[in-house]
Amino acid sequence: MVLISPLLEELLWLEHGFGTRHAPLDQSGMAILKQVHSSLVLVADRREGCVGEADALITVEPGVKISVRTADCFPILLADTRRRAVAAVHAGWRGTADRVVVQSLLKMQAEFGTKPEDVIAAIGPGIGACCYEVGEEVASRFGMEGAGKLDLAAENRRQLTGHGVLATRITPPGACTFCDSARFYSWRRDRELAGRMISYIRVIP
Ligand SMILES: [Zn+2]
Repeated sequence: MVLISPLLEELLWLEHGFGTRHAPLDQSGMAILKQVHSSLVLVADRREGCVGEADALITVEPGVKISVRTADCFPILLADTRRRAVAAVHAGWRGTADRVVVQSLLKMQAEFGTKPEDVIAAIGPGIGACCYEVGEEVASRFGMEGAGKLDLAAENRRQLTGHGVLATRITPPGACTFCDSARFYSWRRDRELAGRMISYIRVIP
């Protein structure tokens, strides 16, 4: 079972999916990253295998499946409807604090001429504010006073709209990976037993 964003599904020139614990997806045949909780963005320069150390991949090449692995962190997929460019982003608290999704938009703009108003963004399943209690240090990175519940999806949504992506063109996660153990792995819940879920996007050749 792979989850689909209804907004991205309308774009007939691409295919995408957010993996679940039941998805038969692995990353063979995909461009992948050594994810390091950064805001680094790389252009996928190959169809398969590791492109480098970073937390977002972008491409305009038809047929190149770009992908990220998550378990509580948020997978975010971007599609530029005018340039037909795409991005796959891994956003945990560090990446979100460093604005990895905005860095991805800026890199798409620099490489492909992407304008934020042409972008559809799909935020995949990650840990919801319901289950994501963070300490003072992390909270302070997000302007919170003291420890509390952090809403990473909302923060990424704010960054997207703050950079010019239309609110009506962003789909929400729709589920919390910690709450929904039947469908998702969760690092916070399962620790070393947690698997990783694969999310991907590609331009259809
Ligand atoms: Zn939850």
